[in-house]
Amino acid sequence: MDNGRVAGRRVAGAGAGGGAGASVPGGGGEPGGGGAPDGGGDLAAVPGLPELDRRVSGCRACPRLVAWREEVARVKRAAFRDQDYWGRPVPGFGGGDARLAVVGLAPAAHGGNRTGRMFTGDASGEVLYAAMHAVGLANQPEAVSRDDGLRLLGARITAPVKCAPPDNKPTPAERDTCRPWLERELTLLRPTLRAVVVLGGFGWQSLLPALTAHWTVPSPRPRFAHGARVELPASDGGPPLVLHGCYHVSRRNTQTGLLTVAMVEEVLSRAKADAGLGAEPGAGSPG
Ligand code: SF4
Repeated sequence: MDNGRVAGRRVAGAGAGGGAGASVPGGGGEPGGGGAPDGGGDLAAVPGLPELDRRVSGCRACPRLVAWREEVARVKRAAFRDQDYWGRPVPGFGGGDARLAVVGLAPAAHGGNRTGRMFTGDASGEVLYAAMHAVGLANQPEAVSRDDGLRLLGARITAPVKCAPPDNKPTPAERDTCRPWLERELTLLRPTLRAVVVLGGFGWQSLLPALTAHWTVPSPRPRFAHGARVELPASDGGPPLVLHGCYHVSRRNTQTGLLTVAMVEEVLSRAKADAGLGAEPGAGSPG
């Protein structure tokens, strides 16, 4: 897919309440004006993940999500009343040479939307980072703030929707509006990326269309399941990509026992092997 062309378009009906005037990522404009603050517009020209992450952080393309993330940041949860919330889109976390990607759903209102880093400061992150540390994909099991010293090892964590949505439910239009960010992220990771762990059915369904620039997604599309493993051949002449399905690490799934840390570790270990990362904890390049 031509990321630059897609990123430059304007889409009607972007998000619930996000119809007229909603601009897509990179569509240009000023802060508060409904577009990306840097006025870029051509995501295909973004040279690397640091620049992409910077642009993501300023995106205002979905009016409903912009209003929600900022309202949450203003009102705050009582326990975090003395903290400055991030209140912006949360970019991916991890190095540009990642061989393994973990794809979730969207930032949590009082987790990533508060701390500014994926799965940081919430119950989901406690499970995910504990598992990643256990299998050697993170240097520590805790994730509490952007300056807590956490580093990913050969991995990057991202999401198809980069703003916290009400009730953790982005609309299909918001998902589609955010897709160019994910597509460009995948293109920049393409030289090294070999495996993906997808957390939950929403992430699975959202990721598949974003993969088609580099890999072939069969029809009918493979279905999400915990433990699913699907190898996608390359469509660009490069190496294949292996998808792994894992239940989302949400509090609901872990508190009900549907998902345990051991189950997450098992999926991550299989994906790590497919990614060609070393079996020893700490192997892989720092993220
Ligand atoms: S969800 Fe994505 S496209 Fe929508 S405002 Fe946030 S970063 Fe921009």
